[in-house]
Amino acid sequence: MRAALGGPRLLLRRLREIMAEPINAQVRLDKIVINIASNMVAEVCSVYVQRSDGRLELFATEGLKREAVHLTTMRAGEGLVGLIASTAEPLALSDAQANPAFSFKPETGEEIYQSFLGVPILRGGNTLGVLVVQNRARRVYPEEEVEVLETTAMLLAEMIASGELQSLAQPGAAIAMTGAMSLKGIGIVEGVGLGYVVLHQPRVVVKKIVAEDTASEAARLDAAIEQMRASIDALIERGTQTGPGEHREILETFRMFANDRGWLRRLREAVATGLTAEAAVERVQNDARARLQRSTDPYMRERLHDLDELADRLLHQLTGQTLIVDQASIPENAILVARSMGPAALLDYDRSRLRGLVIEDGGASSHVAIVARSLGIAMVGDVSNITTIVETGDAIIVDGATGDVQVRPQPDVEAAYGEKARLRARRQERYRGLRDIPPVTKDGVQIDLHMNAGLLVDARHVEESGAASIGLFRTELQFMVAAQFPRAAQQFALYKSILDAVPDKPVTFRTLDIGGDKILPYMTRLDEENPALGWRALRIGLDRPALLRAQLRALLRAGAGRELRIMFPMVTMTNEFDLAKAMVEREIKHLLRHGHGVPSSLKLGIMAEVPSVLWQLDEIMQRVDFVSVGSNDLFQYVMAVDRENKRVSGRYDLLAPPVLRALKSICVSGEAYKIPVTLCGEMGGRPIEAMALAALGYRGLSMSASSIGPVKAMLLALDVADLTVKMDGWLGRLDGSTTLRPLLKDYAQRHEIPV
Ligand code: PEP
Ligand code: MG
Repeated sequence: MRAALGGPRLLLRRLREIMAEPINAQVRLDKIVINIASNMVAEVCSVYVQRSDGRLELFATEGLKREAVHLTTMRAGEGLVGLIASTAEPLALSDAQANPAFSFKPETGEEIYQSFLGVPILRGGNTLGVLVVQNRARRVYPEEEVEVLETTAMLLAEMIASGELQSLAQPGAAIAMTGAMSLKGIGIVEGVGLGYVVLHQPRVVVKKIVAEDTASEAARLDAAIEQMRASIDALIERGTQTGPGEHREILETFRMFANDRGWLRRLREAVATGLTAEAAVERVQNDARARLQRSTDPYMRERLHDLDELADRLLHQLTGQTLIVDQASIPENAILVARSMGPAALLDYDRSRLRGLVIEDGGASSHVAIVARSLGIAMVGDVSNITTIVETGDAIIVDGATGDVQVRPQPDVEAAYGEKARLRARRQERYRGLRDIPPVTKDGVQIDLHMNAGLLVDARHVEESGAASIGLFRTELQFMVAAQFPRAAQQFALYKSILDAVPDKPVTFRTLDIGGDKILPYMTRLDEENPALGWRALRIGLDRPALLRAQLRALLRAGAGRELRIMFPMVTMTNEFDLAKAMVEREIKHLLRHGHGVPSSLKLGIMAEVPSVLWQLDEIMQRVDFVSVGSNDLFQYVMAVDRENKRVSGRYDLLAPPVLRALKSICVSGEAYKIPVTLCGEMGGRPIEAMALAALGYRGLSMSASSIGPVKAMLLALDVADLTVKMDGWLGRLDGSTTLRPLLKDYAQRHEIPV
C-alpha cells in the first residue's frame, strides 16, 4: 500500500504541530515516529542519533521493542543503519535480510521485518543520525516515499541541532552535533585563542521547514532563481569589461550550474513535497554534498564548492540576509571561522575582539596568514569541513602552534588550554623584559635583530619588540589588501607614515614583489604553467617601468631629507640590479629638477633568493650597498620544492648541508667585500635555525616581531665562536647527512640554550 497522495504535506503539517507542542523531547520524538509510521503505512519507524563517540544510538521507535531505546547502539558502518550513516545515502530494500550488510540486534525484535527504508539525517553535509521505516511484508519503496522520508529527516536534523535531544543522551555519550570535537589542522600563527565562533560569511540557517502554502513557495523559489541568474549575468558582464581570465571562466561554470535542468527540477520537486523554498534548497544541497564529498575525482569535489556557493546565494536571496557579518554583534573574544578568506576581509574586523582564526583552506604562506601574523592572531589552517561543524556562538579553542582546534570543549580541556594561554602570556612577558637588553652572545658578538613588516599596524611593534630596524618592508601587502590598484599618492602616504612612525630607525623597503603566489585580486591573472618561475617581482617592474617608476618616486619623496633603503626582489642577473639602479637615479634627477627633496642617504640592495646569485657574488657585492637573503624562496629554488605545495614542502629540511653551505657562501662573500648581509626569510625567526645562521656568520636577522624575544633569549645563551667551529666540522663532513638539526638540537640542550 502506498501513502495517500497529499500524504507528505499532511505529514509535514502534523509534524510541525508536534514540534510546537510544549512537551518533553522524548515524548515529542515518540509522537514523531508514530506519525511517520502511520502516514507511510509502515509497521516500524525508528530514529538513530549519532553520538560524539561515533556510535549510532536508538533514540525512539514505533514498532520495535521499547526496551531497546537508548540501549541499542551500533558503530558507523555496522549493519544497514551504520551503512547509511557512513555513506550518507538512502537505502531502500525489499528483502533487507538478504543484504550482506544486514546484522540484527536481538533486543529490538526486528528480525520479523522484511523490507527496510532508511535515510541519513543530514545538516550542513554532516550526518547527525538515521531515520528508518520497516515493513513486515516485502515491499518496494517508490522514489516519492524516499523523498518524503528525507524531508522528514530535515525536521529531525533541526531538532537535533537545536540541542533539545541532548537531555536524553546518556552520560559520556553526547550527541555529535552538540558535543565536544577535537579537530586537527596546520598550525600557522603561534598563539592560543579561547573564545566563541564567528562564521565569516555566515551560512543561512533554515528554521522554517514546512510550507504554509506550496504554490507561493514555488513562486518564491522561481523568483529567487531568476534574481540569482541576473546577478551572475551582471558579474560576467562586469568581468567582460576587465578582460578575459580565469575569473570569467569560473563565473561561466557558475552560470552553467545555475541553469542546470536537473538541479532546478530537484529544487522544484522538493518544494512540491511541502517544504519552504529555503528548506528545499537545503535538502537538495544536502544530497549533492553527500554525493560529491565521496567522489574521488578532484574536479567533482571542486564543483561542490561551486554548488555550495550557488545554494548559499539562493538562500541569501530567499531570506534577504546579507553575506556580511554584522560587526556590532561580534563578541569580545571572537574566533573567526571561514572556508577561505582574503587579507582585506580580515582587516575589516575589529582586531581588539579577535582571538583566533580557523580556515578550511589556506597554508602558512597564504596572504591572510601574513596579515594574521602581523596582527598577532593565532591561526590554524587546513581544517576540513569546520564551517559545517560549528555554528556561530559555539565555544572553540585554537592552538596556532600545534594546529589543534577544540570545538565545544569539555571543562577540563578548556581549563588546560586556559593554563597554556596564561603560561604563554608569562613567557611573552619575559621576552618583553629582554627588550632593552642588547642582542649580544655570551662571547660578546652582536647579532642585530630586525623586524619584518608590511602594514602600518606593524609599526608599533618596532618599539614593543626592541627591533633594530624594519629589515624588510613588503610593499606588496598594501597592494594585496586593496580593492584596487593603490595610486602613487596612496603609496607615498603609506611610506611616509611608516617612516614617521619609526623616526629613529631605518626601514628597508622592498619594491613590489607580486606574481607567483602573490596575486592582486584586481589584476588579470596570468595563466602560467609555473608561476614561481614566471613573471614576478623585479621582472614585472623592469617590463612595466611605469609601475616601478611610480613606486620609486613615492619612496624617494617619502624619504626626503632622511635615510632611505630600497631593496629589489628576485634579482636573477646582475644587470637587473643595474637597470633598477639606473631607474632610481633617473627618478632622483627628475625630483631634483622639479624642486622636490630627496633622501639624505640612499642605500640600494637586493634580495638573494634566486640560486643564480650564488655564482655572481663577486659582481653583486661590488655593486650593492647591502644584501638580504630571502630564504623562503632560496630554499624553494635550491631544493626544487614549491613552497605552496603541501605534498613536498616539508620533504627537505632548511638545516640540510647544501642549504647551509649556500647560505654560508653569501655571508662569506659579504664579509670579504664588507657588504652587510642579513637574512629575512621565516627561518631567521626560529631559534634553532637562527642559532645555525649565527654560527654560519650572519650578524643580522630580520623576522616577525613576535620572534625577536625567543631569538634574543637564544643568543644570550650562545657561545657563537664555539658553535662556529663545530658547524665548520659538521659541514665539512661528507657523510651525506640530510640535516644537521639533531646535532644542533643536541648542542643546544647540552649548553642549555633555549631553542
Ligand atoms: C623570502 O623569499 O624569503 C622572503 C623574505 O620574501 P617573501 O616571503 O615575501 O617571498
Ligand atoms: Mg621571496
